[in-house]
Amino acid sequence: MEFSSKLLEKAVYEVSQLPGIGKRTALRLVLHLLKQPESQTDHLVSALASLRKDIKLCTTCYSISDTGICHICADTSRLDSLVCVVEDIRDVMAIEATGQYRGVYHVLGGKISPMDGIGPQDLHIASLVERVKSGAIEELIFALSASMEGDTTNFYIYKQLEDMPIKTSTIARGIGVNDELEYADEITLGRSILNRVPFENALKKP
Ligand SMILES: [Zn+2]
Repeated sequence: MEFSSKLLEKAVYEVSQLPGIGKRTALRLVLHLLKQPESQTDHLVSALASLRKDIKLCTTCYSISDTGICHICADTSRLDSLVCVVEDIRDVMAIEATGQYRGVYHVLGGKISPMDGIGPQDLHIASLVERVKSGAIEELIFALSASMEGDTTNFYIYKQLEDMPIKTSTIARGIGVNDELEYADEITLGRSILNRVPFENALKKP
């Protein structure tokens, strides 16, 4: 792609670094911004800059938050003895959208994936074990996507907690293998949380 302007080329290059955005789309987006009032670009740049500077992880559940404790952990009407284990904040948003869940969360920040060099130490697993050891948790619900990495992660955590007196369950799989949680429709997802099964039963399946 030949550019008549180095400034344009640099802006297009930076935008094209985003996932799913090729050079052509990047060019279209940048030209769109150029046609809009300058204030629109200022708002975009400042929203992204303050996001990077001010965003926090909740010190309890590791969800993305504006404050040290996220609004879900801070909500005293939520059941903090029931913890749903998810991969990232998109899963929290998907489950919250069902309106069916009154417990709290633990956001792992990914799944164990030796192929991608992601081990248990790269995820918020130790903090989950600590949370369980603190004694306030009665049940963990595993809600990772039904993939090999998801299953490996569930099993790893299950083994870490085997000797602790808590219930572990997994969301009922109305959701197909490899479907990411965020794409499941709200009714299916809500039902799969209500109809969760003990984790041991899930292990017995072939
Ligand atoms: Zn939290």
